[in-house]
Amino acid sequence: MSSKIPIAVRDRVSERAKKTLDVVAKFVEEECIPADPVLEAQVGKGDARWEGHPSIVDDLKKKAQSLGLWNMFLPKGHYKESPGFTNLEYGLMAEWLGKSRVASEAVNCSAPDTGNMEVLAKYGNDAQKEKWLKPLMAGEIRSAFLMTEPQVASSDARNIEMSIRKEGDEYVLNGQKWWSSGAGDPRCAIYIVMGKLDGGNTDPYRQQSVILVPANAKGITINRMLSVYGYDDAPHGHGHITFKNVRVPAGNMVLGEGRGFEIIQGRLGPGRIHHAMRSIGASERALEWMLMRINDPRKKTFGKQLKEHGVILEWVARSRLEIDAARLVVLNAAIKMDEQGPKAALTEIAEAKVLVPQMALTVIDRAVQAFGGAGVSQDTPLANMWAQIRTLRLADGPDEVHLNQMGRNENKKSKAVVEKILAQKEKTEQLMKKYGVEKNEPGTNISRNGKN
Ligand SMILES: Cc1cc2nc3c(=O)[nH]c(=O)nc-3n(C[C@H](O)[C@H](O)[C@H](O)COP(=O)(O)OP(=O)(O)OC[C@H]3O[C@@H](n4cnc5c(N)ncnc54)[C@H](O)[C@@H]3O)c2cc1C
Repeated sequence: MSSKIPIAVRDRVSERAKKTLDVVAKFVEEECIPADPVLEAQVGKGDARWEGHPSIVDDLKKKAQSLGLWNMFLPKGHYKESPGFTNLEYGLMAEWLGKSRVASEAVNCSAPDTGNMEVLAKYGNDAQKEKWLKPLMAGEIRSAFLMTEPQVASSDARNIEMSIRKEGDEYVLNGQKWWSSGAGDPRCAIYIVMGKLDGGNTDPYRQQSVILVPANAKGITINRMLSVYGYDDAPHGHGHITFKNVRVPAGNMVLGEGRGFEIIQGRLGPGRIHHAMRSIGASERALEWMLMRINDPRKKTFGKQLKEHGVILEWVARSRLEIDAARLVVLNAAIKMDEQGPKAALTEIAEAKVLVPQMALTVIDRAVQAFGGAGVSQDTPLANMWAQIRTLRLADGPDEVHLNQMGRNENKKSKAVVEKILAQKEKTEQLMKKYGVEKNEPGTNISRNGKN
């Protein structure tokens, strides 16, 4: 809530955003978290998990809209559809949303729809916006982003092979996709698909295109739904999908042939901040659960409650410290993005993208450990939270891709740094001479009363 906004950023948050943040926090704590197990129960069992639609989500959506909580993610200034919050302000809200499984969808701010709406708002033409952005903004349909493919290393987007062939006033798509998140939901109506244009540009960064494909187009088969550490994430899910001669009108191309890289770059900046802030929220919730367990008077070990063991208090302290530090890293990236745009903030965004899931996994793991066997079971939200957040070290580009980029950028400083260090050494030599002293070498030349 607004009183908890870190002092370092408080002055940048408008009064309106502070008020909205308080409403978000109350909505999440009082309406969404208690609704999470109801959602899971409503999803049902077996095939029914992919067929129905939990009514509690619709009820929460109505409640959210009546509170004025809707589409807060669309950044101020960039889109006329935006409710007017900065990335920093929405980031603070996303932290609360991350405490609950259902909260982000309830306020129409859930991935991958958020990124997909940004693509349509930023790059879509009027007809594409009218047909797909409008119902997505209204929360009437859902969407999926299809880039990753089973047969290639997809963290290098140049490898993407889905074939897009121009035939008259249509494009024809052939290939396979997997990890198509959201494709399991019967309300998922539109796929935003990345593929390679047959006979297109030879520049590897201009070969990929992004095209809109209705989920019910002829030739599309969802072969299976993938699991995440055994969780199927229904009704959202992650599809493995085949495209066989799928035809779409030429007008479904987004931005233009060969502009795919531009689009995925533009899509991912804000999304990474959202994921990172939601993970901060999940870490806070894990810490709350840990506090509950360590203060449980019924469960003592060696005559003491867990809170009376120093090692456990150290876990609590370290968790608080790590969450607070990581939050500042993400908010810093959000501010830079607000002030200078996603491109200028690439390094800061990458820092948040890599740091936060690792921090969150550590905090959740401590909470799991504090619960003993219960921690890995279905009796706490911790096991599911851990599985969800573990995937963030892979999704939107694995850690190593970002670390490589960050390492290369940091290493660009090496020439200047080496010159500086050598100049400092030279200056030291000159000062030694001036003061008539020699460098002290520890452990050598000890002389006492002439006896060595
Ligand atoms: C739960 C979940 C949801 C997802 N949702 C979507 C979605 O909605 N849409 C979508 O298109 N995709 C989605 N993905 C896919 C995700 O983006 C990819 O898994 C990810 O980009 C990695 O691609 P890959 O699986 O092909 O692994 P590969 O590209 O084969 O990489 C394998 C490993 O190689 C290593 N590696 C890669 N590059 C380097 C490097 N430069 N230096 C050192 N090591 C490196 C990394 O450790 C990496 O994990 C999702 C994945 C998961 C798990």
